[in-house]
Amino acid sequence: MAELKDLVRQWLDSGRVDLFLGYKEVAGHPLPYAFSPDNLEEVEELVVSPARYSLEKLAASILKERPQLKIGLLARDCTRRAVQVLTIYNQVEPGQVELLDLSCCPSRPQVSCSALSPPQVGEVKRALGIDNRLTPEQFEAIPAAERFGRWLYEFQKCIKCYGCRDICPVCFCRECSLEHGELVEPRDLPPEVPMFHWVRAVHMAGRCIDCGLCEEACPVDIPLRLLYRQTNRIVRELFGYDTGLTLAQPPFSVLGVGPAEPREAAGGGK
Ligand code: SF4
Ligand code: SF4
Ligand code: SF4
Repeated sequence: MAELKDLVRQWLDSGRVDLFLGYKEVAGHPLPYAFSPDNLEEVEELVVSPARYSLEKLAASILKERPQLKIGLLARDCTRRAVQVLTIYNQVEPGQVELLDLSCCPSRPQVSCSALSPPQVGEVKRALGIDNRLTPEQFEAIPAAERFGRWLYEFQKCIKCYGCRDICPVCFCRECSLEHGELVEPRDLPPEVPMFHWVRAVHMAGRCIDCGLCEEACPVDIPLRLLYRQTNRIVRELFGYDTGLTLAQPPFSVLGVGPAEPREAAGGGK
């Protein structure tokens, strides 16, 4: 940890980055915090915690206002994948973001994450819904009609809080289809089953970097990570495209700013 703090101080002091986004404990809670060269002593308060926020999305929104800045990020492996996708979709430019790797888990989706705690699965969920711990392969071993029924059970719990979208590092559209009156009836609760979730699942094809933040944020425990893992599994099988591991253009782009020309890899590291 001391080495990490020294590196952050070095990066800020030398002008390698203008800001460094990490976490600072505030009233017992680790919260995203922008460390700056003007307050180097604050770096002592930098914490590495299992709590995660989309620091990369925060960086992208700061860079929209101040594109001349260079921002350092405390980066889990999912952060690196998210920055790749944000670069493809022109949300950050190469060189604007520098990553200080935590090397928390192997840099590929579909592996267990050191930050995610195992979800609790009660009797009713086991009987009617979906065990959040299932892999796509395990879930697909269940007959298709039963799988569909289980998804319907899960989707009916949705309270349309938009937490899954808001926390997602790769959901950045200024106008979101999930709030479009012709696609999603504003007064419906739960939102139309299964359309609301299918719309988002389609948007996550070739875009979701499997960070699991949406599922952590979901107050009703819908196994969203499994849903998008299944979606990306289809993308991988049909197009050989591994989301977040490449700066190649995704096989299709549904919404938002279209994919850019392939760029050089997102930089960074110790
Ligand atoms: S796992 Fe969820 S929060 Fe993370 S990129 Fe995919 S959809 Fe977004
Ligand atoms: S990708 Fe889809 S769900 Fe996410 S912000 Fe854009 S329109 Fe909304
Ligand atoms: S976080 Fe959960 S409850 Fe909220 S909109 Fe997303 S799926 Fe629905």
